[in-house]
Amino acid sequence: MTVEAKKETLGFQTEVKHLLHLMIHSLYSNKEIFLRELISNGSDAVDKLRFEALSNESLYEGNSDLDIRVSFDKDDRTVTISDSGIGMTREEVQDHIGTIAKSGTKQFFEKLTGDQAKDSELIGQFGVGFYSAFIVSDKVTLTTRKAGETEAVRWESAGEGDYTLETVDKASRGTEVVLHLKEGEDEFLDNYRLRSIITKFSDHISLPIIMDKEIPAETDEEGNETAPATVEDETVNSASALWTKSKEEISEEDYNEFYKHVGHDFQDPLTHVHSKVEGTNEYTLLLYVPARAPFDMWDRDAKHGVKLYIRKVFITDDAEQLMPRYLRFVRGVIDADALPLNVSREILQQSKQISTIKAGAVKKVLGLLRSMSKDTEVYEKFWSEFGNVIKEGVIEDQKNKDAIAKLLRFSSTHTDKEKQDVSLASYVERMKEGQDKIYYVTADSFSAAKNSPHLEVFRKKGIEVILMADRVDEWLISNLTEFDGKQLQSVAKGELDLDKLDTEEEKKEKEDTTKDFEAILKQMKEVLGDKVSEVRVTNRLTDSPACLVTGDHDMSLNMERIMKEAGQSMNMMGMGGSKPIFEINPTHALVTSIKNEQDDERFSDITNVLFDQAILSEGGQLDDPAAFVHKLNGLLLGLLK
Ligand code: ADP
Repeated sequence: MTVEAKKETLGFQTEVKHLLHLMIHSLYSNKEIFLRELISNGSDAVDKLRFEALSNESLYEGNSDLDIRVSFDKDDRTVTISDSGIGMTREEVQDHIGTIAKSGTKQFFEKLTGDQAKDSELIGQFGVGFYSAFIVSDKVTLTTRKAGETEAVRWESAGEGDYTLETVDKASRGTEVVLHLKEGEDEFLDNYRLRSIITKFSDHISLPIIMDKEIPAETDEEGNETAPATVEDETVNSASALWTKSKEEISEEDYNEFYKHVGHDFQDPLTHVHSKVEGTNEYTLLLYVPARAPFDMWDRDAKHGVKLYIRKVFITDDAEQLMPRYLRFVRGVIDADALPLNVSREILQQSKQISTIKAGAVKKVLGLLRSMSKDTEVYEKFWSEFGNVIKEGVIEDQKNKDAIAKLLRFSSTHTDKEKQDVSLASYVERMKEGQDKIYYVTADSFSAAKNSPHLEVFRKKGIEVILMADRVDEWLISNLTEFDGKQLQSVAKGELDLDKLDTEEEKKEKEDTTKDFEAILKQMKEVLGDKVSEVRVTNRLTDSPACLVTGDHDMSLNMERIMKEAGQSMNMMGMGGSKPIFEINPTHALVTSIKNEQDDERFSDITNVLFDQAILSEGGQLDDPAAFVHKLNGLLLGLLK
C-alpha cells in the first residue's frame, strides 16, 4: 500500500533545544547511555503492547514475537535499535518526541543556573530518555507504526532547531530508531562494543535483546566451502525479569542498572528492598529509594513511581494505590501473583488484594528507611531530599504513625543548627529529670524559631526544644501529639508547667511577683482591651520584656499566619474568638519601670509598644505599623529630653 507522503517541518519546543544542548555537553563522558535509554523505551513499549493485547489480541497482528533488536551498518555509519512494541501514532510522535510533555518541566528549567557543572547534575534528575541519542548522532531517524494502525510515520532531526514528520510505510508494528553517528563515534560500529554496553546496562531487561551473530562459512579439509557464511539471531542479555531472580543471583550493579530503567534516573539509588511475600496473596517487590528527589516531586499530578506487574506482565505505571502520597518518591516494581491478568483500573482500585499488597509494601519501605536511619550519613542525605514528604505521612497514614514518627528528624536547641538531625528518640534520651514533655516551637523560618523569646527559660534551664520551621510542621504537630508516651508541647501555648523543674525558692518568688504585679496586669488588660484574653506574669522569659501565648487547644500564631496567607480570612489576634494571652517579664527593666509610671498616656503607649514588639518577635505582622513607629518614637524622644 502506498500512502501519500505528507512531509512537514516542525520546530522543537524551546525547552527541548535547551535540553539537547545541555545534555550533549554534560553527558558526553557517559555517552554510551544512549543505548540504555533507547532499549529502555523499547522495553516500555513492548510492556504496553503486551498489556493492551490482553484485551485485544489482534494488536499482535499475528506476530507475538516480542523483542528488541540492535544492529549496525559500517558503510552507512548507523546504529539501529528497533522494537516490536506498541509504536506511536503521528500525534503521539509529535507529543512525545520534540516536545516535553512532562508535568513540572517549566519549574525544572527555571532551576537551571547556566552553570554547566551544576546543571549537569540536574539533568540526571530530569531523566534523559530519547534525546540522549543526540549525544552520539548528528541525525536521528525514528520510524514507527502503532499496533493495529496502517499508517506509519517517520520523524527525523539533526537535533538542532527542527524536525520533519512524514507518512511512510512500515511492515512491522513498533519503532525503529536509526542513529547516524557523528564524526569520531565509530567505536559504536562494533559488535563487541555494543554487546558489552548491553550486558552492562540492559542485562536486566526482561525481553530478549537480539543482535546478529555471524557464522563463518564452513570449509572441508581442502578448503572448499561446505556451508556458506550465515547470520543468526543471538540473544545478548539474560532476558529474565530481574525481580524474579533470587537475591544471590543479582549483583549490586544489576540492581542499580535496573533502578535507572524503572526510575528513569541517571544516578544510583540510595538503597533498595527486594522481597517475595509468600502466602495466598503472593507478590514480589523490588523497591528503591532514589538519591535525589525527582524534579516533579511537588507536582500533585506527577505519576507515581511503582510499576505494577502481574506474573511478569506489565499492568500500569500509574498505580496510585500501590504507594501512599508520602512515599511518592519510591520507585520500583511490584509483581502480584494472585491477581487476574485482565484487571481494569477500576477493579484495581477496589481490589482487596491490592490494598493488602499496598499495606505490606508500605511496611517494607518503612522498615527499609528505619534500617537506613542507622547510617547517619546516608540518612542525612535521604532526609534533606525527602524529609518534608515523610512528614506528610504522620498526617496521611494514621496506622503507621508511630513507625513514621521514628523516622522524623528535626533541628533543635541541642545543636542550634538548621540541619535536621535530631530524632525524637534522641530527644527523649536527653530529657532532664522531672521533664515529662517534648517541647517544640514553630515559626516561619529557622532563625525566627531559634531566636524565639519563648525559648528563653528553656535555654536558661538547659531544656532542649525542637525547632520547627517547615510549612508542613504545623500540620505534622497537630497530628502528632505524643511520642514514646511523652506529650508534645508547644512552648508558646498554655501554662508551662515547668514547676517541677523549679526550686522551692523560685516557686515562692513567682508567687510574690504575681501578687506584686496584680494592679499592673489589670491596667494593661484595660489598655489592650479585646486584643488579648488575659495579661499575666510570664515564666517563659529571661531577656525579653513580653511575649504572646495561645491557649493549649488554640491554633498557634504561626498557623494562623499560614492560614491567612493561604487566603483564609481571619484576624491575626485569634480565630473564632480565641485571643492570645499577653505575658510580661517582671524581671525586665522596661516592665519594672512601667510599674512606677504615673502618666496614663505613657503607660498606654509603653503597653502597646510591648504588645506590638511581642507580635514582631513572633514573626508576625502589625495591623498598624505606622502607629507602632509613632508611639515608639514618642517614647524615644521622651528619653532624649
Ligand atoms: P521517558 O521515556 O522518560 O518518558 P523519552 O524522551 O525517552 O522519555 O520518551 C518520551 C515518550 O516517547 C515516552 O514516554 C513514550 O511515550 C514515547 N516513546 C519513546 N520511545 C518509544 C518507543 N520506542 N516506542 C513507543 N513509544 C516511545
